[in-house]
Amino acid sequence: MELGSHVSFSSSRLNRRVKDQYMKLPQEGKVMVTYVWKNVPHENLQCKTRTLDYEPKSIEEIPKWGLAFHLQHEDPLRDMYLIPVKMFKDPFFWDPNKLVLCEAMKSNGQPADNNLRQSCKKVMEMARDYHPWFGMEQEYFLIGANGLPYGWQEDRCPIQGIHHCGVGADKVHGREIMEAHYKACLYAGIKIWGTNAEIISSQWEFQVGPCEGTDAGDHLVMARFILHRVCEDFGVVASLDPKPVPGFWADSGCHVNFSTEDMRKEGGLKHIEDAIEKLAKRHDHHISKYDPTGGEGNAQRLIGVLVTSNINKFSSGVDDRTASIRIPIQVWQQGYGYLEDRRPSADCDPYAVIEAVVRTTILKETT
Ligand code: ADP
Ligand code: MN
Ligand code: MN
Ligand code: MN
Ligand code: MN
Repeated sequence: MELGSHVSFSSSRLNRRVKDQYMKLPQEGKVMVTYVWKNVPHENLQCKTRTLDYEPKSIEEIPKWGLAFHLQHEDPLRDMYLIPVKMFKDPFFWDPNKLVLCEAMKSNGQPADNNLRQSCKKVMEMARDYHPWFGMEQEYFLIGANGLPYGWQEDRCPIQGIHHCGVGADKVHGREIMEAHYKACLYAGIKIWGTNAEIISSQWEFQVGPCEGTDAGDHLVMARFILHRVCEDFGVVASLDPKPVPGFWADSGCHVNFSTEDMRKEGGLKHIEDAIEKLAKRHDHHISKYDPTGGEGNAQRLIGVLVTSNINKFSSGVDDRTASIRIPIQVWQQGYGYLEDRRPSADCDPYAVIEAVVRTTILKETT
């Protein structure tokens, strides 16, 4: 979306009370299942709902769905399959309705070009005995109907200064959305770790995890879907752009916190330091996987200002938020725990990120 383009989000003008009357109607034994999938190179998601005559009790009871849909604007209509992989409760239609995360597959059985979950899953199976856990911190900006961060006038932020974890109407904009999203995630069964206000008044963060293996990607993607859907109801847009306001120093990242079973045990610090050594030798590879543009978007963000590292230089440190990799202070003090890779961009594909981390640290890949 063009900044300052003064688009009007018409859904914000519809009367939600009128809608509520229909939402209370009984469903006559039917269940609505909303299939959610990703099939574009960037983080955008798609969804499509269908009616089942029964309530699915497990993922196996949800039919795969072959349908024709536009891959991307430039592509013709193509037949694809949506393969259900994880079921959540639907916080929009409520129980017994479901949200179901799907993988997009081509009709020849190969994963769709932007389905990176298949490859991630294979790598996680190879690393299974290490029990890799991930926690992801999703930062985002709320964009209002004037095309600017919500609450901004002209191209200026009316609330100046740094308001990380801020409280008060003179510090933050749009807490309603963050809180609605939090509750909706809990209801759905997302493993949401927490939330906080970010540095700029209309910037927020939620965290997912710790989750083992591909689960981390699954829960983050569904949490993103819920965020975009909640924002629709409020008539704003959640932007995961790493640099939503050009020239302005605020950025959005998606830090990935990572541990193996060895790192989480007494003496784990040694394993954390070993992993950092391996990550240091493969900086460029990781940068190429940490945003959907192979590092171009992230270069706008990782400029070494405020609490970001320099994209051209790997660094690590204890309690150092200007480093590529940080060892949290409590981990350092207790001698075990996890590491934080601060490089992934807010619009990263989580499957690409966690696959790269495991390939480098557990599978010991170097090229
Ligand atoms: P920060 O201080 O970097 O802002 P947050 O409180 O926002 O940290 O997020 C902490 C993240 O660390 C959460 O996503 C959580 O799931 C994750 N986490 C906690 N313990 C572990 C662990 N042992 N392994 C991997 N991730 C973890
Ligand atoms: Mn955080
Ligand atoms: Mn943050
Ligand atoms: Mn940040
Ligand atoms: Mn962090």
